[in-house]
Amino acid sequence: MSIHLQETQRRRTFAIVSHPDAGKTTLTEKLLLFGGAIQMAGSVKGRKAARHATSDWMALEKERGISVTSSVMQFPYEGKIVNLLDTPGHADFSEDTYRVLTAVDSALMVIDCAKGVEERTIKLMEVCRLRDTPIMTFINKLDREGRSPIELLDEVESVLGVACAPLTWPIGMGKRLKGVYHLLLDEVHVFEQGKNFTRQDSTIFKGLNAPGLEQAIGTEALNELSEELELIQGASHPFDLEQYHAGKLTPVFFGSAVNNFGVQLLLDFFVEHAPEPRSRATLSREIKPAEEKLTGFVFKIQANMDPAHRDRVAFMRICSGTYTAGMKMLQTRTNKEVRIANALTFMASDREIVESAYPGDVIGLHNHGTISIGDTFTEGEAVSFTGIPNFAPELFRRARLRDPLKMKALQKGLAQLSEEGATQFFRPLMSNDLILGAVGVLQFDVVAYRLKDEYGVDASFEPVGVVTARWVHCDDAKKLEEFREKNAMNLAIDAAGELVYLAPSRVNLQLTQERSPAVRFSATREHA
Ligand code: GDP
Repeated sequence: MSIHLQETQRRRTFAIVSHPDAGKTTLTEKLLLFGGAIQMAGSVKGRKAARHATSDWMALEKERGISVTSSVMQFPYEGKIVNLLDTPGHADFSEDTYRVLTAVDSALMVIDCAKGVEERTIKLMEVCRLRDTPIMTFINKLDREGRSPIELLDEVESVLGVACAPLTWPIGMGKRLKGVYHLLLDEVHVFEQGKNFTRQDSTIFKGLNAPGLEQAIGTEALNELSEELELIQGASHPFDLEQYHAGKLTPVFFGSAVNNFGVQLLLDFFVEHAPEPRSRATLSREIKPAEEKLTGFVFKIQANMDPAHRDRVAFMRICSGTYTAGMKMLQTRTNKEVRIANALTFMASDREIVESAYPGDVIGLHNHGTISIGDTFTEGEAVSFTGIPNFAPELFRRARLRDPLKMKALQKGLAQLSEEGATQFFRPLMSNDLILGAVGVLQFDVVAYRLKDEYGVDASFEPVGVVTARWVHCDDAKKLEEFREKNAMNLAIDAAGELVYLAPSRVNLQLTQERSPAVRFSATREHA
């Protein structure tokens, strides 16, 4: 088998999705510990804690190194190469999260056993379902009193519409937590606080009749377990690889991330069964990872990693072929050839120059504004990957400049920051306003801070009479011109030069749509 195929088959590229506080950061940290990517508990934690408060988050973001490397965390485990793509924790950055989900082959859903399926989990699962992304589930915080495991599985099945196949089963919960039982391995892993870091460090019994088990967990717990196992064997689904890969069934693990309990069982199963890199659709054909020519798409951009140099890093997911340092790639949107010598890789939580990378991997491409989210790179074929959306923002503000002489810098800053995808920048046809759209309120603070910090511009954001935006398209050039003339007051150009209708009210939007049947109004703009 070629190196390219071997390397492809050992890639596991995924993201963790959860409602805030379910334990995503804690679990990420434990996975990195197992992968040897970090040495000490607490290193991911510190980053996340700081991120909670806006001001701290910003101070921290200034240390660009941290935020780059944490966007993609690559580590080896049991002969596989795991790529864990970070999704921003704060709800205000959900657009970013959606786009990260276009770049993974599977996802891991974390649920708090006391809270069950929460609102943000539901939203994120909707996105996963659109693409039939395979999902593994980790039900966390077993060391606390939670809801009954059967009830939790029922909720996942009914609310998220995916069948559950429990792989491990809790023995007790909260103060009564004794361990978990692995249904496929027929093993009891005993919960012992401060232990369980590795298999060697755990007490494991083979089978429910193993000598010493009853003594270790108590007669009552053992009887309860036997009863529950009988119950779930009748009521739940057995694990089925095909169903899992089709996104119809989720393997479920129980554990406690903070205690490192049940995590290795999850990771072992994950690297064995989670899908390797999958095929991806372009406008013209499907591209298979086994294809030898390189293809990839950009799903995320981070600007001003190094404020002194105004550089930006574009994160590209490799879909086929092999990347080697110094190779030439075609950027299909612009039809330009670029030589990439210094792409970043994310091995061992360090920025390093990568020599080669394979399907499933993410590489970071330095650029000065020439690469956009959604861009496709190939070795010459003119294809474009689809499905990387730009959502209509829900909040709008007008930028107000304190020093009018800084207009140029303000425009530049807004345009460059909006290329990262978290905010969008609109210039109305009929005024000199600069309007910023975002999906969350926090983003305006972040932009104001960064304008000052990175561009030396003192700007604030004030309310503006816009409630929603729609990208407008019309195949008939004459009708489009008519529409443009009639509605110029409410039209604007976005950062990519596309025409956008900025609606002052929902009613206005509806009326305008009714009056212009030839025009299509789209709530997302596909990057293509
Ligand atoms: P995130 O917002 O999903 O990233 O959640 P965090 O990983 O930051 O966890 C939220 C809180 O839950 C933190 O205070 C964690 O220490 C705590 N936590 C995480 N895992 C567990 C667990 O297994 N048991 C208990 N009791 N607390 C946990």
